[in-house]
Amino acid sequence: MNKCNIIPIFVPHLGCPHDCIFCNQRKITSFNDSLDKEQICLTIEKYISYFKNKEIPIEIAFYGGSFTGLNENLMIEYLKIAKKYIDQKLVDSVRLSTRPDYIDEHILDILLSYKVKTIELGIQSLSSKVLDLNERGHDVDCVYKSSNLIKKYKINLGLQMMTGLFGDDFNSCIHTALDIAYINPDFVRVYPTLIIKDTKLEQLYYSKKYIPMDIKDAIRLCKYIDIIFEHYNIDIIRLGLQSSDNISKDKDVVAGPYHPSFREFVQSDIYFDLFEYYIKKFKIKKYLHFECSNEEISKIVGNKKSNINRMKEKFNLDISFSIHNFEKNILIINENLVNRKEFIDYSFMKILRRFDET
Ligand code: SF4
Repeated sequence: MNKCNIIPIFVPHLGCPHDCIFCNQRKITSFNDSLDKEQICLTIEKYISYFKNKEIPIEIAFYGGSFTGLNENLMIEYLKIAKKYIDQKLVDSVRLSTRPDYIDEHILDILLSYKVKTIELGIQSLSSKVLDLNERGHDVDCVYKSSNLIKKYKINLGLQMMTGLFGDDFNSCIHTALDIAYINPDFVRVYPTLIIKDTKLEQLYYSKKYIPMDIKDAIRLCKYIDIIFEHYNIDIIRLGLQSSDNISKDKDVVAGPYHPSFREFVQSDIYFDLFEYYIKKFKIKKYLHFECSNEEISKIVGNKKSNINRMKEKFNLDISFSIHNFEKNILIINENLVNRKEFIDYSFMKILRRFDET
């Protein structure tokens, strides 16, 4: 995905008559009521004035809620505001998030006429059982139909999935990721399920009918999912919930695998596996020296050097490293050239074998 400066406009529960058991959109978006149009304009202008690099395209993003589930006139009023800034050449495009069952040709005609460039569908799972248990109110088929329609309109498609939903397990999450890869969206977001206050999931948790995934399992599962999307060259634009004032472990999250550095943990775990594989392959004993790009070093070393310490302990090695102007995927391990992508493809085949058997 090309880099964009995003102007986020949060559309809260407004537009969504549903109550998926895990969602309390009002809490996540920090709003309770409808959006004030003047306020939207002020927000857009404030952001435009912040962006210093005028070469980077600017996109207005209507997030949260289900944008295309709004009353049509209201939806068009919001789109008109965005279009005003596009016509003035102050903004380049619009993106929005919605539900798969709120997409049809009539809606897409409207969106296209207002320069909507990207649609993110919150699909959460491609298991019928999981969709039903979480009271999503749409079926699997609807996801395929809406995704294909968006692609037919040549609008960028993003798909959001959740892991560890009520009724989910490793197998259903892996199959959801594989099925998403088959749809071939332009990008994905992956959110481990958290129990948010004032949701049905919270009640299920207190009545011991739902046990959230612990953080270690969530990291392991998201590692497999990351590998699947990396294998298919599908951009993961977010892994783990965005940290904000309202979503913090103490305030609104009752339980669940929440950590502000969740994604870094996943990436570090992938690198641990990569090093383990090449330590064995190259029969490395005693000393290990690796070279990598500046971009990757913190993921390789891990939080508080956890990866390096794990490797030292497990393989009894002296470890040193140096940083170079390498491409992201390239590493040198004891003078052997290593391409991370090859390891990802190898790991992907292992995941396929493992989860095909289950
Ligand atoms: S469709 Fe989206 S916004 Fe509406 S209740 Fe479900 S998760 Fe929340």
